[in-house]
Amino acid sequence: MTAASHYWIINARIPNCFIDHGIREHSLELLLNSTLRRDRLFPCHLEILDGRIVTISPSFQDSQIPTNNLPIIDAKQGIITPCFTDLHTHLDKGHMWERSPNLDGTFQGALKGTYRDCTENRNWNYDDLYRRMEFGLKCSYAHGTKAIRTHLDCPPHQVGTTLQVFRELREKWKDKIYLQAVSLVQLSYFDTEEGEKFADAIADLGGIIGGISHTVPELDRYLGRIFALAKERNLSVDFHADENNDPESRSLHHIAENALKQDFNSQIVCGHCCSLAVQDEETVNETIALVKQANIGIVSLPMCNMYLQDRVAERTPRWRGVTLVRELDAAGVSVALSSDNCRDPFYGFGDHDMLQVFSMGTKISHLDTPYDNWIESVTSRPAALMGLADVGKVGIGQPADLVLFKARSYSELLSRPQSDRMVFRNGIAIDTTLPDYSELDDLL
Ligand SMILES: [Zn+2]
Repeated sequence: MTAASHYWIINARIPNCFIDHGIREHSLELLLNSTLRRDRLFPCHLEILDGRIVTISPSFQDSQIPTNNLPIIDAKQGIITPCFTDLHTHLDKGHMWERSPNLDGTFQGALKGTYRDCTENRNWNYDDLYRRMEFGLKCSYAHGTKAIRTHLDCPPHQVGTTLQVFRELREKWKDKIYLQAVSLVQLSYFDTEEGEKFADAIADLGGIIGGISHTVPELDRYLGRIFALAKERNLSVDFHADENNDPESRSLHHIAENALKQDFNSQIVCGHCCSLAVQDEETVNETIALVKQANIGIVSLPMCNMYLQDRVAERTPRWRGVTLVRELDAAGVSVALSSDNCRDPFYGFGDHDMLQVFSMGTKISHLDTPYDNWIESVTSRPAALMGLADVGKVGIGQPADLVLFKARSYSELLSRPQSDRMVFRNGIAIDTTLPDYSELDDLL
């Protein structure tokens, strides 16, 4: 039935934020059901034709189901979301935990473990990288993700292989997943002649300029250089910023200031920004105002932050490691949640499942009741920050790229892993079987 080109999904609940105002305008006052009201879910039927949504019909008590004898899938009040977008990942590091675990779980341990695996042991050859990265793509796709931005470590000995593998996988997977790449280097690299050539290579790849931003005396010079290089090549930028608990770490502030100074108009994304949560209120407010003014999107990585931040041997962590997502959101900044690392020295767990990211993010950052529009943080907001117009939406004329859950409320949605979700791509239910871990055994 799900392979039919014309059918209805009936009795679904879609978060209001995805439903066009025109469709829900006259319907909201009819919402007597407290779960629908509290969770801001819109009850409806969807007509799918040739892979696209052609009708969204509100469903209320006694309303007729307008299916015209077409095949139906009964969602039984289950929640439907658009397919997910994972704005901040590291596919190149993923799934090397068994051979390079981070046994003390610290940030330094993560850096050392990655350096050992990539640079000292030179493990990231074509076959190794291709298979681990593709394993991540298979997991993402099966869990319902449609777009991924990955940061790529680019030490000189590695960059050729990495960019080749990325290009090949982007091409192979292009009908399933939009893939974007960001360079992951020290900002100082762009202040060199090789760095300028590297910016050309990123432009040639269709990638995004990025790096790790620390509060160093030369920070403004480095940022000035990067914004100039990005501007000349019409590239977006994406920084790892302030991934620590040092109140003096204020590179987010400097990024916003330099972007404004240079009148930088392409999209800027900053990931982590953990130190914002340990700064005094005045400093925080000043930085958030600049971030808003510079139109910077913020991506929080709740699982990785909780894992690495405040990790000290034989001591219980005292803070959750995440940035001020609620305050940023309240100021009108676009805030996304993403997975970050997956089964590598920076995060020992994960499965590229954006529902898990949303679930953990909700619990770590208290995004529950009201859930507000936080489901946008793993769907429409990251898609917009990636510049993708047809991702993260549920609208008439949009591709029917949807995830259907059995859960009927957010409490149900975020209480089970939802391993039995259905994922529709262009209106067709895909095989959601996850790749077997043993696929990678000979690499580990
Ligand atoms: Zn990262």
